Amino acid sequence: MVRTHNLGFPRIGKQRELKAALERYWSGAISRDELEAAARELRRQNWSRQARLDLVPVGDFSLYDHVLDLSFMLGNVPQRAKHGDASPLDQYFRVARGRSQSEAHACGVHASEMTKWFDTNYHYLVPEFDANTRFTLDASRLLAQLDEARESGVEPKPVILGPLTYLWLGKAPHDCDRLTLLDALLIQYAALLDALSLAGVAWVQLDEPLAVLDLPPEWQAALRSSYERLREHGPKKLLATYFGPLGDNLELVCRLPVDGLHVDVSKGRDEVSAIVKLLPRDAVLSLGVVSGRNVWRSDLNALLDWLTPIADVLGDRLWLAPSCSLLHVPVDVESEQRLDSEVRSWLAFAVQKLDEVDTLALALNHGRGRVADQLAANRAAIESRRTSRRVHDPEVQAAVGRIDAKLGQRPSDFALRAQKQAKHLPLPLFPTTTIGSFPQTQEIRRVRSQMRAGRIAREVYVRAMQEEIARAVREQEALGLDVLVHGEAERNDMVEYFGEQLQGFAFSEFGWVQSYGSRCVKPPILYGDVSRPQPMTVEWTKYAQSLTVKPMKGMLTGPVTILNWSFVRDDQPRAASCRQLALAIRQEVLDLERAGVRVIQIDEAALREGLPLRKRDWQHYLDWAVEAFRITVGAVRDETQIHTHMCYSEFNDIIAAIAAMDADVITIETSRSNMELLSAFDEFKYPNAIGPGVYDIHSPNVPSEEQVVSLMQRAAERIPVERLWVNPDCGLKTRGWPEVTDALRNMVAAAKTLRAASQRI
Ligand code: GLN
Ligand code: ZN
Repeated sequence: MVRTHNLGFPRIGKQRELKAALERYWSGAISRDELEAAARELRRQNWSRQARLDLVPVGDFSLYDHVLDLSFMLGNVPQRAKHGDASPLDQYFRVARGRSQSEAHACGVHASEMTKWFDTNYHYLVPEFDANTRFTLDASRLLAQLDEARESGVEPKPVILGPLTYLWLGKAPHDCDRLTLLDALLIQYAALLDALSLAGVAWVQLDEPLAVLDLPPEWQAALRSSYERLREHGPKKLLATYFGPLGDNLELVCRLPVDGLHVDVSKGRDEVSAIVKLLPRDAVLSLGVVSGRNVWRSDLNALLDWLTPIADVLGDRLWLAPSCSLLHVPVDVESEQRLDSEVRSWLAFAVQKLDEVDTLALALNHGRGRVADQLAANRAAIESRRTSRRVHDPEVQAAVGRIDAKLGQRPSDFALRAQKQAKHLPLPLFPTTTIGSFPQTQEIRRVRSQMRAGRIAREVYVRAMQEEIARAVREQEALGLDVLVHGEAERNDMVEYFGEQLQGFAFSEFGWVQSYGSRCVKPPILYGDVSRPQPMTVEWTKYAQSLTVKPMKGMLTGPVTILNWSFVRDDQPRAASCRQLALAIRQEVLDLERAGVRVIQIDEAALREGLPLRKRDWQHYLDWAVEAFRITVGAVRDETQIHTHMCYSEFNDIIAAIAAMDADVITIETSRSNMELLSAFDEFKYPNAIGPGVYDIHSPNVPSEEQVVSLMQRAAERIPVERLWVNPDCGLKTRGWPEVTDALRNMVAAAKTLRAASQRI
């Protein structure tokens, strides 16, 4: 009999109950017991939603982050979080967010760093290691949850991040090799596994997603030796890998002394026959057949055709599951009552994905007749999506078909463009600008939500936004900035704003996924060919330009960023969807230019985070990502100045691609690193203009004029002054007006000082 299981379930709840409980707890509105009760209730609901499965995950739930939970289970808690008589929960939130409950208004400690979990938009808390790190096991929370799960009537399978991935994801000072901690760590893992045996657990899932990465040989060797060491300990072990094929780690992973292996079939189907051959004869193979990374229904009939011969070979050794934890998808499509019914019929969120796993197993175990209705309904949905006019737009496809190299080629090279722009757009040395958004005040949010709820007329909304734009322009003129922005008051989110106006996107009501802790995002769903029925930003920008003689920068989100922050189609390559987006943004760029806008910024905030997990796949991605950007601006006149913005500046490994985008000006995030990150520009001579951020917008601190001058002087050591711009790190929407005006005043004063100084030379 084929068995079913799940690797992890969304923690936040159908209505983001976890978010509500956490925020109430942090503000002091509820007690610790009440928070724990809310968490217990969420776990109970999650288990009941998974009750049909043979094995149900335990330990996947977390109050903030599962990697942080493991750090606490292993006693790896930064010393700075332990002061006073803080309870473990206080310490936990100190590490997670810098503050415990009682410190709501006091100054806390600095939280651990957060970073992206592989290539997802989930952020984990980075474990901190050094040569003195010691581990001590406290598995009480996990063991208590095992009991809870059993009370819920499910067969629990504890889920634990494996020792190698845990070490890999952490950070350590340069003089500390994380692998030197492995022995000490394995002692605790062995004890943990023994404790699980004692608790009567049959199977434990050890997640080692690092197995899909490029691994140095010493890490490969450590993977092998670690599981040798753990061989005699604990219940049966299912080693889970996901997010990609195993590639060069395939043989190594198949030969590990574990009792079962889970692989991500949504990403690595081609490897399955090799795995079946290599796996020991008694080992279980769990196939992650239903993608845990997208929101689409699987083609169950096609999957069954593929699975049937595999099931014949493997028999009882075959398990089925989603490809990875369902953490990365929303909870339940049934909550979506407003979504267009046709689009809705194509979707599967966590609950539906488990239904799919269940249906597949029933068909394999009892014949397709047993689930004939489900299979017929699935076939109809797949067919409707495959043929729907809403998905396939021949005009868009024809336009994509006409794309050639010329489309992304600006008429002249940067040197000539720069000359023409200097005439068309007289700017001083060290020109000043901002990244786009100005503070999103309570008032702006109030008007926007009234508009959404239909409580105010469109004209009232437009007038309110125009007032905000006028305010932003007034402030910028008073400050003496050189290139102005309209402030983006009308945008709730830089991707959603465009998605809502483009054909091919749908928006859910409750399609939340966890980004980190209590923070959730609701990614737009890109379901069909993309087109732009009408201009999206031109009226706002024109209005802003009408208020000033200074150049007004038009603000757009780039195709790669829209793609990377949406749920995207699985029926065509990402590159194809990106090209369609590029054509739509290109039309907007041309409309802005036609309306007299002389500077246009296309934000590619998320370009870097779209890099594939394996280095050998990077170039292909960068090629199409850069091409998409170039298409958006390929047709503008030389005089039109194109800016782009990126929320990072770790460019060392992709700087050639950044240069190939050929934006006239690029603004990046550098203030925190004291311009250190500009080291990328030492070896690679970046040819165009750069605005290295001088104002850290993630902090309430206001940089002084001297600080800005000194940052820019450091930048000038690497980049010729004629090509330097002065600007903040990123948009200002999360900050308040008083700090923003203070900071920008200092920034403008610094630019004047710098100009005077370079004239003297
Ligand atoms: N133009 C956007 C803003 O200023 C850019 C935001 C971003 O880079 N994340 O808010
Ligand atoms: Zn940014």
